[in-house]
Amino acid sequence: MCYAIPGKVIEIKDSFVTIDYFGERRKAKNDFYKLSLGDYIYAQGGFVIQKISPQEAEETLQLWRKIFFKLQKRDLKLTERPKNLYRIANSIRQKKLGNSCCIHGILEFSNYCRNDCFYCGLRKSNYKIRRYRMDTEEIFKNCKYAVEELNFKAIVLQSGEDLWYTEEKLEEIVKKIVRELPVLLILSIGERDLKLYEDLYREGARGVLLRFETSNKKLYEKYRPYHHFEDRINLIKNLKDLGYLTFTGFLFGLPGESKKDILNDIRLTGDLNPDMFSFGPFIPHHHTPLAEATPPTLELALDTIARTRIMYPESRILVTTSLETLDKKNGLREGLLSGANSLMINITPEEYRKDYEIYPGRAGIELSLKERINSVIELLNSLGRAPTDLGI
Ligand code: SAH
Ligand code: SF4
Repeated sequence: MCYAIPGKVIEIKDSFVTIDYFGERRKAKNDFYKLSLGDYIYAQGGFVIQKISPQEAEETLQLWRKIFFKLQKRDLKLTERPKNLYRIANSIRQKKLGNSCCIHGILEFSNYCRNDCFYCGLRKSNYKIRRYRMDTEEIFKNCKYAVEELNFKAIVLQSGEDLWYTEEKLEEIVKKIVRELPVLLILSIGERDLKLYEDLYREGARGVLLRFETSNKKLYEKYRPYHHFEDRINLIKNLKDLGYLTFTGFLFGLPGESKKDILNDIRLTGDLNPDMFSFGPFIPHHHTPLAEATPPTLELALDTIARTRIMYPESRILVTTSLETLDKKNGLREGLLSGANSLMINITPEEYRKDYEIYPGRAGIELSLKERINSVIELLNSLGRAPTDLGI
């Protein structure tokens, strides 16, 4: 994919470094490498994930040098004289964070789940889906391909809450990936023990994607049977305290939710001080108790992104696949033009992708991985976005 820009280390303070990207400076934490001033590195999500030789860096920088300033200009031009709420949010994004855009790969490694969330097609009571799980080798093989062949720098490993993956298995998976691949590893495996998360951090995982789903406790406990709202919030807080980059947020458009709930959702996400806001529209699944619900509109989705950007100008905001699904043609583009600055590319092998049916009709899964990458790069070029790390 070659969609990442290396930076030069220009300052080192304990385990923190300052990195220069064509004159833009960003900070990152260095947990894994011995670094000196002048070294070239790749950073993701504010973590140094790879050290590369000056020759290798120069080759890539030469390619980027030609287009980097053109992209900056294009982004600036697109944010001039904003005419509505969405474009105001987009210009705030540009002023506060420049044209950086993070791209994460997401590998959905198991669709088994012990839970019965009313909104989700993977719920255990849905007997109609074909279940699958990947073993350590298969997960590793897919990550290796994404990192080495396609140049992904950050990967989310996502699954239902699947206890087949014991502590030992998860440790083995994380250890193998982090030891052998230069990648920021983000876990999205649901509510597992804090001790397990502690062990996985020690093995090198550095991010967690765990949404609180809704700030409305009554709705939360109605739609997530046998689960308590406070447990979820405490887990998210504890994971942040452990040092994980936290990606959190909510689902919006759930039946029974009010406009005020969405504002509270945005506020609660902000209070949790996440490294990435991750929220997306609820899309009904035909084999769940919420099959008859109506999905929210694209306008509500863009409104939610824009309001978040205005309330939290420095935030990183993800365009989720569910937003892309609401409007396959324009969802991603409009999300990025309403204040978002991050996106995901599905790297799950084609044979499994359609079975990971959290909701139906997921955007992007009909394309081959290479087609999807090309269409994303084309879009980012047209919007003037560049993959410099946003730093910490
Ligand atoms: N099992 C893990 C991770 C997989 S689910 C967990 O629950 O945290 C990932 C996310 O999918 C959930 O956090 C939820 O917000 C989202 N999701 C579930 N059902 C959905 C639906 N019908 N429409 C849109 N998003 C949905
Ligand atoms: Fe399982 Fe996550 Fe779906 Fe809930 S949202 S049923 S925990 S996969």
